[in-house]
Amino acid sequence: MTDTLPPCPECASTFTYQVDALLNCPECGHEWEQGLPSDDVAVVCDSVGNVLHDGDTVTVIKDLKVKGSSLTVKVGTKVRGIRLVDGDHDIDCKVPGVGQMGLKSIFVKKVSD
Ligand SMILES: [Zn+2]
Repeated sequence: MTDTLPPCPECASTFTYQVDALLNCPECGHEWEQGLPSDDVAVVCDSVGNVLHDGDTVTVIKDLKVKGSSLTVKVGTKVRGIRLVDGDHDIDCKVPGVGQMGLKSIFVKKVSD
């Protein structure tokens, strides 16, 4: 790990170091949680490049096997009220007939309704 740590927000010291999830400043003793840069909002797009938002409705564009079960989310399944999350499966949603699960945005298409 050679990530450059951000300077201390209190005294602008660049000698910050990381302990677990916290950043520490050796000069003023300030410690804080490293947040995501506010100007770097992750944009999640569907399979055709539409920007997705919390609460959107999408349809599944291919059959998806549900991990750990024999269920399949069929192509064309409409999923309402998606929630965007961080991670490999960047959509958290409740799929009709399947339940709460994670989907990949590349396998869905936004629909307006
Ligand atoms: Zn400081």
